[in-house]
Amino acid sequence: MSDTARLPELLRQKIYKTGQTRGADDDVIFQNRVGRNSTVLIPYEHWEKASSPPETEEKFERGFIALISPRRYFETNAISKELAQRGLKIGLNAIVLYETRDEWKLYNPEKKGWVAASHRSDNLGGNYAARVPASTAVSEGGKIVRGYNTTANKGAGIRIYEYANLTTIKHCRLQLEFLFWQCLDASEVALQYGMSVAHSSARRDSNAEECKLHSLQDFDRLKSMRLISLGNKTMCPLCLQEVSALGFFSKVEQAEGRVVPDLTITQLNLFHINELKLGAYGHRPYNLGWGHHHCNVVVKDAGIAETVIWMNDVVDKNVAAGYLTRAI
Ligand SMILES: [Zn+2]
Repeated sequence: MSDTARLPELLRQKIYKTGQTRGADDDVIFQNRVGRNSTVLIPYEHWEKASSPPETEEKFERGFIALISPRRYFETNAISKELAQRGLKIGLNAIVLYETRDEWKLYNPEKKGWVAASHRSDNLGGNYAARVPASTAVSEGGKIVRGYNTTANKGAGIRIYEYANLTTIKHCRLQLEFLFWQCLDASEVALQYGMSVAHSSARRDSNAEECKLHSLQDFDRLKSMRLISLGNKTMCPLCLQEVSALGFFSKVEQAEGRVVPDLTITQLNLFHINELKLGAYGHRPYNLGWGHHHCNVVVKDAGIAETVIWMNDVVDKNVAAGYLTRAI
């Protein structure tokens, strides 16, 4: 395939970004939009449920850091022994994370002479980090931010359930591009956004070939996961409408009077079929699709099945109360 057979820029970026984590600001301990194979942060309180890498992997590609609450750390007898039994050591692969003012007051690490951590692997360079929000009480003072807060080194790592290794990230991108080409009007839209007929068909063929190589184009499986319709066209996983590839390029229409000029949300968004949650790894092939922005907003983190049950309940209640006549 020639170099010029690149996807139109907006689409290319949209697919590329699926390999990154969601945004995070300075008030939290997470990194902002980095690769999903970055250092994983594991809340110690959920250690039993969520500390293993995905089942087929021996370890996290770039390691992990366990986050322990000050109470758990300082109020557990023989905590070092307990940690050691799990292969953990403060300063090596675990830190104490301060998130409330009470914790900070009660177990102030600076008074103990502790150093804030700053590295993400091997030796973490310190024992703790803090992300305590500002207090509304004047006497209490501003927010407390310690560790992983320099421009070059912001955030300690990513949420564990957002993790995926590089191969998985790549396979997801391949399948998501495959789903673009399965949109009912993909070829026309590719032309409209600058690809020649020859380049678009070359790109489509090479993507299909790679997907075949990695078993990423099993139509029955794609259908069972709500990703394509009975007619093999890409559909929105919630409302089940076949989607137009134009949705990768067009902006969401804003309600009148609420126009945001440089709004960058497009009509189609990345959908996770089984939602991202602790104890599971949702960023994997056959669990990602393209759906309407509005449908994605409705589903949020609840999961599709739960959302549909809730919607049915809403309709039932509206019919029962006489606000709505159910279409027959
Ligand atoms: Zn939809």
